[in-house]
Amino acid sequence: MASIIYPGSFDPVTFGHIDIIKRASRNYDLVYVSVLDNNQKTPLFTVEERVKMLQDVTKDFDNVIVESFSGLLIDYAKKKKVHMVLRGLRALTDFEYELHMAQTNSIISGGTLETVFMSTDMEYSYLSSSTVREVARYHGDVSKFVPDSVLKCLNDKFR
Ligand code: ADP
Repeated sequence: MASIIYPGSFDPVTFGHIDIIKRASRNYDLVYVSVLDNNQKTPLFTVEERVKMLQDVTKDFDNVIVESFSGLLIDYAKKKKVHMVLRGLRALTDFEYELHMAQTNSIISGGTLETVFMSTDMEYSYLSSSTVREVARYHGDVSKFVPDSVLKCLNDKFR
């Protein structure tokens, strides 16, 4: 069975992420959407909130599992017995960082962890969680960037 892990911060999940998840769910038997619990970043939403938002927006995909993990991605992947990692590419600015991460994970996993990239839908190539956070913080309209359930969580945060 072809399974893949889509790891990220998802702080919060946007239409760009959802587009990648939708396309992954069509092309893989099982998709783990895995929220990294990274104690070096101070997120807007807790891991539990991010998992809950993702579960809500992916509830119609029956081959998508949302969970969190901490520590190294290669250790998490080993535990899940999955050898493929999915990342999204928006623009050239993503490329260098993503290539660096993919190569690092390949090396530290002894060549067993593969990273595949999906290019963003053109419609979402400008879209990032950080933009959403900044616009929402100052009560700008982010309804074109995130689904209603996430919009509600952002409104609650910045009320
Ligand atoms: P991270 O902090 O790990 O980069 P993000 O939640 O920002 O976490 O992104 C997770 C993954 O989703 C990354 O591979 C990122 O490039 C991708 N991604 C983010 N926004 C978009 C988008 N608008 N279109 C396609 N991929 C995206």
